[in-house]
Amino acid sequence: MDLRLYNTLTRRVDPFVSRETGKVGMYTCGPTVYAGAHIGNFRTFLISDLVRRYLEYSGNKVFWVMNLTDIDDKTIKGANAEGISLREYTDRYIKLFFDDLDLLRITRADLYPRATEHIPEMVSMVEELKGKGHAYAADDSIYYKIETFSDYGKLARLNADELRIGERVASDEYEKEDVRDFALWKSWGEDDGPVYWETSLGKGRPGWHLECSAMSLKYLGESFDLHLGGVDLIFPHHQNEIAQTEGLTGKPLARYWVHSEHLFVNGQKMSKSLGNFYTVGDLIKLGWKPREIRYALLAGHYRTRTNFQADSIESVRAGLGRFDACAVNLQHSTGGGGKIELEQKIAERDKEFRAAMDDDLNYPEALAAVFNLVRDVNTLCQARAIGQEEYQIAREAFRKFDSVLGFLDVDGAEETPDPEAAEIDALVEARNAARKSKNWTEADRVRDLLAEKGIVIEDRAGKTVWRRK
Ligand code: AMP
Ligand code: ZN
Repeated sequence: MDLRLYNTLTRRVDPFVSRETGKVGMYTCGPTVYAGAHIGNFRTFLISDLVRRYLEYSGNKVFWVMNLTDIDDKTIKGANAEGISLREYTDRYIKLFFDDLDLLRITRADLYPRATEHIPEMVSMVEELKGKGHAYAADDSIYYKIETFSDYGKLARLNADELRIGERVASDEYEKEDVRDFALWKSWGEDDGPVYWETSLGKGRPGWHLECSAMSLKYLGESFDLHLGGVDLIFPHHQNEIAQTEGLTGKPLARYWVHSEHLFVNGQKMSKSLGNFYTVGDLIKLGWKPREIRYALLAGHYRTRTNFQADSIESVRAGLGRFDACAVNLQHSTGGGGKIELEQKIAERDKEFRAAMDDDLNYPEALAAVFNLVRDVNTLCQARAIGQEEYQIAREAFRKFDSVLGFLDVDGAEETPDPEAAEIDALVEARNAARKSKNWTEADRVRDLLAEKGIVIEDRAGKTVWRRK
């Protein structure tokens, strides 16, 4: 594998080398389940899905973990406002998340650990951090003392002065020793209501950053290959994950940190707080098909901001329609003898596809390679070089590309019906009936009629197939 990825840690495009050849462990920060995720969130999860799919396409076995943040200020607030348990409240949004994930054909991670099911792991992590002098108690909460971690700021490339900016306001609430310190364990407050855990750290709940450190450590080990998330997570979330895990283990948490850019709407980041968001359900109501949403959300390079326009559906349909038309062409193709040329084209396009994806996931170019094959196949269909054997080979090639893209619908493609199909079928039947009764004049007349309509017919294995010229 020749994959190269932009690593936020080094600020370079580095060759991707996994710890164990042929095996990749990856972690994606999952959703905070206090509301339905919007398509911006899903773009980030789609990028992880693309990475996973491409790693597998390149012959790797991937173990992918994505956490579910089911405890934080927002989930607690939501549950308490409705007077239901945190579990009942978050279950609702977890179900919605998985429904949308399936609609978007995002492959399932191997594990979706919930933060609330890993409290003992988090508590023991904090105890250990305290033991090593990285944590201290203040105001009944427990904080990470970042001056004890010399590499703090390395991922985010921030120095001590920059770290102070913006942290001051939030810090007023707590009696931290240093404004930059962050909470590992938050003591219970009245607003938390019935949501708390009685532990050796006191009555309270874990901080958000701690959740990911504890769960990645448990399921992927002290040091794993790839950590992903949106760019907004670089600081402070991922920087804090590093401080926590590496403060304990002394080993690099992840060797590669991949961050994807945000989805924008009219020049602004799509976000719940701005109210400028769409959910998958919103788009379906507007007439979008799930595969069209997937196609639109994958557009562009993962490190480039993508602007989403709900009215871009026509251009999305035109793009996917080019592929669908090719699938229909293949289904109706007659002839043969194009095997060698087809196989050459497939090998060429596969090379282009891999070269593009290997180059820091240059998805737009990779997609262009697939559309080049669409053009090649159409040309071969037109030259009547596609018979049964070639048809199977072409289908297999598109299926393989689709194992990465996930929206081609090679087999399940709803065949776009020809508007004149019923009429043409009737004419073909009339011709066959005339031939059967040896009425050659009538059979020729009908064939000419079909030819006038631009229809070519061919008798194949006792069946008459037709296609447009
Ligand atoms: P949250 O559910 O808020 O914890 O966010 C889940 C993921 O969605 C994080 O990795 C965020 O970086 C990402 N995210 C949030 N807003 C956007 C956006 N507009 N475009 C892309 N990703 C986003
Ligand atoms: Zn995380």
